[in-house]
Amino acid sequence: MIGGGLTGVSTALNLAERGIDAVLLEAEAIGHGASGRNGGQIVQGYSAPMERIEAAVGRSDAQAIWDMGREAIAAIPDRVKRHNIDCDLRWGYFIAALNRSQLADLRDTVEQWAEYGYRGPTMVEGSAVRSVLATDLYVGGMVEPGSGQLHPLAYLLGLAGAAEAVGARLFERSAAIEIHYGKTVRVTTSGGTVEADTLVLAGNAYLGRLVPEMNRKVMPVASFIGVTEPLGEERARRLFPQDVAVADCNVALDYYRLTADRRLLFGAGASYSATTPIGLKDWLAKRIRRVFPELTDVAIEHAWGGLIGITHNRVPDFGRLAPNVLYAQGFSGQGVALTGLAGTLMAETIAGDDSRFRLIEQVRHLPFPGGLLRTPTLVAAMGVLKLKDRLGW
Ligand SMILES: Cc1cc2nc3c(=O)[nH]c(=O)nc-3n(C[C@H](O)[C@H](O)[C@H](O)COP(=O)(O)OP(=O)(O)OC[C@H]3O[C@@H](n4cnc5c(N)ncnc54)[C@H](O)[C@@H]3O)c2cc1C
Repeated sequence: MIGGGLTGVSTALNLAERGIDAVLLEAEAIGHGASGRNGGQIVQGYSAPMERIEAAVGRSDAQAIWDMGREAIAAIPDRVKRHNIDCDLRWGYFIAALNRSQLADLRDTVEQWAEYGYRGPTMVEGSAVRSVLATDLYVGGMVEPGSGQLHPLAYLLGLAGAAEAVGARLFERSAAIEIHYGKTVRVTTSGGTVEADTLVLAGNAYLGRLVPEMNRKVMPVASFIGVTEPLGEERARRLFPQDVAVADCNVALDYYRLTADRRLLFGAGASYSATTPIGLKDWLAKRIRRVFPELTDVAIEHAWGGLIGITHNRVPDFGRLAPNVLYAQGFSGQGVALTGLAGTLMAETIAGDDSRFRLIEQVRHLPFPGGLLRTPTLVAAMGVLKLKDRLGW
């Protein structure tokens, strides 16, 4: 495996559990990429609507892909329990609509999920939003009991410990700088070489140009998170009466939740320009006050950014560069759950059964523009999408 995030570590764990010798190379430290920086939201389904997946693969394979998404979520509490991972796993989620058109889309989503056999979510509207969240910003939303939240780095480190306990070898500060493809794959780092029967590329938005074929299909989008000082139990309960994690429906969305020690963890983005906004904490504080105007007196104590790997169609990109070179990337903001699926399916494939991996692999992915036009085109495209958010189209 190249990459010590949730994808690489889950793959290593699944392989080692099957008795397969697993070696993982991480350029920095386990969790250095998106897996150690994300909002910790466990989100049902896929970033793409099911009708898009259905159009790509047909109804029956789309059903299998949906079911695998459900399996990815179910695997989290299973892993947490099995490996005794202390990561503050909690259930309950609210997808918030800022306007009528987003509310109508959410209603469609509820219906669509029911057609796929999942009837968990319910809709709330108008003043009923306040039973979920103390804000007047939203016109309504979907209450989703089957999605939730956890502390992502604690979860990842728990999985990494479990992987090592069953024999996987994880090497930090070991950037892969060159790959020789062939029957035996050779990966070179500054300190040595690893030879393997199979290579798994799990660098996602952080892989850079090491593998140009993959780089073109994933756009690294920056997102930023701020964590406030503790709000206190009483205020936290008042703002989040149902202790849900929240995301709104905008493309440049807000996503937030309470931490175990009752701080507000608030994420916002996204931007196709990878530069950190000047005055990041002030920018985040403004976004927070838009939702909770009363939080003028609360300091943001920590803030950071990270890169999310987004595909053109928002379906994760699972594939093979050669029969013995697998990859999974582009979870499009839903990697906390779907990386676990990637790990399971890649381990199944390496162990000789690729029938489930192929279901997702068959989805085609368009490349993003390359060369000098890449960044300006994407910044312009994001500008249009943000305008749509603002106008409520
Ligand atoms: C700010 C932010 C908030 C997010 N919020 C959520 C959320 O709430 N819910 C959700 O589901 N998803 C969220 N995501 C997305 C989610 O974090 C990712 O989908 C997921 O973590 C991807 O995991 P990964 O293992 O594929 O990639 P990563 O975690 O990015 O890991 C890739 C690793 O590869 C390493 N690497 C790269 N190149 C090399 C090399 N040459 N040699 C060795 N190692 C290399 C990197 O150092 C990195 O550690 C968020 C992402 C960000 C950035």
